[in-house]
Amino acid sequence: MRYHIWTLGCQMNVADSQLLASELEKMGHNAAPGDGGDADIMVVNTCVVRQSAEDKGLGRLQLLSKIKETQPQKVIGVMGCMVGVRDPLWMRQRLPYVDVFMPPSDPAPMVSFLKERQNETRALALEAEARTRRDALQDGELILPLHERGQLVSAQVPIVYGCSHACTFCIIPFRRGVERSRRVGEIVAHIRSLALQGVKEVTLLGQIVDRYGKDIPDGPDLADLLRVVHRVAEDVGIERIRFLTSHPNWMTDKLLKTVADLPRVMPHIEVPIQAGDDSVLARMRRGYTADQYRKLVARIRKIIPQVAIHTDIIVGFPGETRAQFMETYRILEELKLDKAHLARYSPRPQTVSDRRMDDDVPDGEKRERHRMLEDLQARVVARINAQYLGQRVEVLVEDKHKNRWRARNPQNKLVFFEAEGDWKGRLATVEITWTGPWSMQARLPQEQPVAEPPLVLAG
Ligand code: SF4
Repeated sequence: MRYHIWTLGCQMNVADSQLLASELEKMGHNAAPGDGGDADIMVVNTCVVRQSAEDKGLGRLQLLSKIKETQPQKVIGVMGCMVGVRDPLWMRQRLPYVDVFMPPSDPAPMVSFLKERQNETRALALEAEARTRRDALQDGELILPLHERGQLVSAQVPIVYGCSHACTFCIIPFRRGVERSRRVGEIVAHIRSLALQGVKEVTLLGQIVDRYGKDIPDGPDLADLLRVVHRVAEDVGIERIRFLTSHPNWMTDKLLKTVADLPRVMPHIEVPIQAGDDSVLARMRRGYTADQYRKLVARIRKIIPQVAIHTDIIVGFPGETRAQFMETYRILEELKLDKAHLARYSPRPQTVSDRRMDDDVPDGEKRERHRMLEDLQARVVARINAQYLGQRVEVLVEDKHKNRWRARNPQNKLVFFEAEGDWKGRLATVEITWTGPWSMQARLPQEQPVAEPPLVLAG
């Protein structure tokens, strides 16, 4: 901005005006040419040693008040003896258009005022920029926090909110409301925006994700949506698509065949069983029997031969006897699933099981059942993973962890490997050299090229 200082009175005032000018220059402001009529910052450095000097000062301020009326953005300041060293209350009342009052030799009030205004201007500019950006967004587009832009490899995309199933133990329907599917266009916009910010894998989310579209008359189902998302993924460079969590009752052949058919949809199905005993399943109000679940697993494996199946299990549900728990143990032993998320039952407020059932399995027993399944699952998964030893698998690299690249194979199993170059966000073909129940180690075959940093169109 440009400034002008009208200096009245003695040499001391001249020096004070120079001091003020110097401070303004340091802030990047410049002296206005001519008589100061065009200046953005107008200061009268006053003198009261004589009435005439005082009148002159008040006369100049009177002229400035007229300018301020029509150009309120101008900054008007008064400095010097008229202001004095105490708060000039009378002046504030008499000269309400003055923005800054400076005691003699003290430019600090003007400096702080201008800094504050700069901050406000900057804040307004930022807000305007954010508004423009928001307006430019399509419904569904998402802006990642700055620290995740260009960094996040795998992101979640909700496609169904809420749940209307009401399993007797579950609080979700009370907290997240009834099932609502998002529109396809919104989901596509969401995914496109993530891709522009560097994301390489999307996981479509729903409490019962395979019910997608059931609440939209003649709406698309999850299989239809996957085909649309797959086309978008090819277009924008999303390498992998997953979806979770499914309910056994809604897993159609059409959906499974679509998964098998689309190369970017990973062979990975999350479908909770919750319990292996039919009477416990009925009390949970899950809507299927253990045998139906068995058949579902066989069907999934037939249609998607390379599939990894994950499940959820609750132990110690009200009334679950040891014998009933052993049904869960046996089905898990029999089905050999790739992962089981285990939980000990605890009553959640408002749920049917909390209101109507007795939480009668002692905590020690729940812990013991949990430990038994954990041990079983570790053995089962160790054997499944051992089959990968020596195989070449394609992994998507998520991050670097303690000098090793952390990646996942199509079945969502963790694979670590060491390699030069920047592999984050890239697909790599690695050879498995060690397997355990929770992760695998691999090496890069000799012929694999060293990775260059990926090209990210950060938004
Ligand atoms: S467990 Fe899943 S399906 Fe059952 S009510 Fe909760 S969210 Fe819905």
